Amino acid sequence: MVLDGTKTINSEGHLEIGGCDTVKLAEQFGTPLYVFDEAVIRRNARALRESFAAHLPRSEVIYAGKSFLTTAMCKIVEQEGLGLDVVSGGELYTALKAGFPPERVYFHGNNKSEDEIRLALKAGVGRLVVDNFLELEMLREAARSLKTRARVLLRITPGIEAHTHDYVRTGQIDSKFGFTLSNGQALAAVRQAAAAPELHLMGLHCHIGSQIFEVEPFAVAARVMIGFMGEVKEEAGKILRELDLGGGFGITYTHGDRPPELSRYAAAIARAVTEACQETGLPVPKIMVEPGRSITGPAGTTLYTIGSIKEIPGVRTYLAVDGGMGDNPRTALYGAKYEAVVANKADLEPDRVVSVAGKCCESGDMLIWDVCLADPRPGDILAVFCTGAYNYSMASNYNRLPRPAAVLVNEGEADLILERESYEDLVSHDRIPGRLQGEESKAERAVL
Ligand SMILES: *Cc1c(COP(=O)(O)O)cnc(C)c1O
Repeated sequence: MVLDGTKTINSEGHLEIGGCDTVKLAEQFGTPLYVFDEAVIRRNARALRESFAAHLPRSEVIYAGKSFLTTAMCKIVEQEGLGLDVVSGGELYTALKAGFPPERVYFHGNNKSEDEIRLALKAGVGRLVVDNFLELEMLREAARSLKTRARVLLRITPGIEAHTHDYVRTGQIDSKFGFTLSNGQALAAVRQAAAAPELHLMGLHCHIGSQIFEVEPFAVAARVMIGFMGEVKEEAGKILRELDLGGGFGITYTHGDRPPELSRYAAAIARAVTEACQETGLPVPKIMVEPGRSITGPAGTTLYTIGSIKEIPGVRTYLAVDGGMGDNPRTALYGAKYEAVVANKADLEPDRVVSVAGKCCESGDMLIWDVCLADPRPGDILAVFCTGAYNYSMASNYNRLPRPAAVLVNEGEADLILERESYEDLVSHDRIPGRLQGEESKAERAVL
């Protein structure tokens, strides 16, 4: 077990996070429970902000809200001086509700609705990141009718695809996002946006992938994008002042993962940007990055209560917990891997390999295939690590399981930041038409 962040084992042999005994947290708040380590969120946010500021004085770190967003999280992001990247009206609403400064909000999305665009413009978001030609038109119209001028970045598909352990450059990348660079779409979009009186074209954006373990793909992306900014200057006579290089910094889910130190991304990006700008004769633009996972991922731990244990001799032992794909669909969705520990036996040597199953009616509802645990028994508390990003934000009510609560722990204090859903919450949006309750239907009323 890797005891990173503020994780320790106390004298009772229990796992502690943020000075809180996780077994007591499970008792007090119930399970499944998302536990967020405030010190780790802040440490990651600071490491990124400080390393980018050190290498690129004009830079901004923008937290990707889609990885985990609640009103309390917005407060932490604001306090740490980060921007906030939202991808929907719902995320924007969350930020506004939390009193997050709208001018520090970046609004993404490949299919923004008219309502979302108007909401963003009325709120006065800092930048809209325009994805496609339809959106350009919709945005111009909305800005015209609201008598405002929208500050925009254009999302470009640079033709670089970064995977977990390698990256490829493809001529024509197959992506639903953004204006394609290689076929001239990107330049056409720049021309349109620059000429539109309702828009203020501030710069460009790209995002090359997620959970990227190397710094080089970011340097390649920076060089490609600055090369394109040089082309924009030549062809369209416009010097763009901002370049957002997206998110995707990798984190350690299991002991095999070896991401670079967060500060190394900044160093590599800064070097590539500076060199490329010298070559193209462009001023160094303001550089933005949009990390999500690398800020909240390692800060989250999910606590479950262990239930039934099914042993198939010579095959596998299934250990079922009281959550699963409803609170963490990542294993079912893309084979994500996690590490875990029996929280009330954290001082014991793990000695049994088991597979952790959820309680949904799907064979694919697994949390961990093969993990070594110390004497797991029904009623024990299982702590699954590194669940801070893309767990709650992807949670569902499948099987009508209420979504878990989340607590923020710090220096021995635990505060609820998300209440557990109740059964009442689950039916609160249900409606029964009158005719299913013995009332006359419209057709019957019409006959009478
Ligand atoms: C998902 C996403 C991010 C954040 O990615 P992480 O892997 O969580 O850092 C940033 N920007 C865009 C446009 C994204 O789609």
